[in-house]
Amino acid sequence: AVPLVVAISTAVSAKKGLLIRNRTAFENSRKITKIIFDKTGTLTKGEFGVTRIKSIIDSVSDDELLTIAASVEGNSEHPIAGGIVKASREKEIKLDEPSNFENITGKGIQADLNGKKIEIVSPGYLKEKDFDIPENAFENDSETVVFVISDGDLLGYLALADGIREDSYDAVKTLKERGINIVMATGDNEKVAKAVSKELGLDNYYAEVLPEDKQKIIKDLQNEGEFVAMTGDGVNDAPALAQADVGIAVGSGTDVAAETADIVLVNSNPKDIANLILFGAATYKKIM
Ligand code: ADP
Ligand code: MG
Repeated sequence: AVPLVVAISTAVSAKKGLLIRNRTAFENSRKITKIIFDKTGTLTKGEFGVTRIKSIIDSVSDDELLTIAASVEGNSEHPIAGGIVKASREKEIKLDEPSNFENITGKGIQADLNGKKIEIVSPGYLKEKDFDIPENAFENDSETVVFVISDGDLLGYLALADGIREDSYDAVKTLKERGINIVMATGDNEKVAKAVSKELGLDNYYAEVLPEDKQKIIKDLQNEGEFVAMTGDGVNDAPALAQADVGIAVGSGTDVAAETADIVLVNSNPKDIANLILFGAATYKKIM
């Protein structure tokens, strides 16, 4: 007989960096009725480019806003941070060094910079803190928008765009053919989520989802009788990956997620995820 891993390697391009931690869950792929994908870095490339920078304060130029944002984002590993830092490099902007950097889980980041407390945050966080959303912030449906706050004053926003992965179309097609319902969960704003979901022809999406909400989403679906697979890429996804019937940790640098997942895939290509699911289902049949 062909060893399992060798056989999978023919179906999945991830020849290295695939780990089946829970074989039963893997074989339970045949029961999956719903899969919840991450957006950023899974269905999309996770390579953000800055499309607009807008200061709403007279005393702060757009370049100064970028300087502040990039200085703080230099400490973040989120793909949004990569896009903002890249934009500052293209303009050869010299960055300042922040201190006391912290993540605001699912909502952004904060740090001290030149004596001010800087927060770079999601639209959801802005609403929660009762800020007025600046006019034109959401003029493009496909843009992810983050807001810069300095000592409690809203300075402006940066808009970024990511692209859908070519392989996502194939993955959606493959899973749909199997009758699996495809859902996306993202921390990103409603408009982006809707645009990506529509473009890919997904069955549903959840936007502005906090990491801790993902577990509940899965639990509720399971209570409705769904057999749920989920992909997750972060430390905060561990509870949801554990809750899922088939939990798939994707991407590198996800030690905590990997420890609770049933399957670990170092790349986050949705086509590989779809093929894994087909393979898991086929493996079960063979054993019977
Ligand atoms: P996703 O993986 O779907 O992008 P996250 O939970 O990682 O969701 O992020 C949710 C939202 O929090 C982002 O869309 C953004 O608004 C905000 N956010 C997260 N990290 C950062 C960051 N480094 N800089 C600015 N905003 C961030
Ligand atoms: Mg994420």
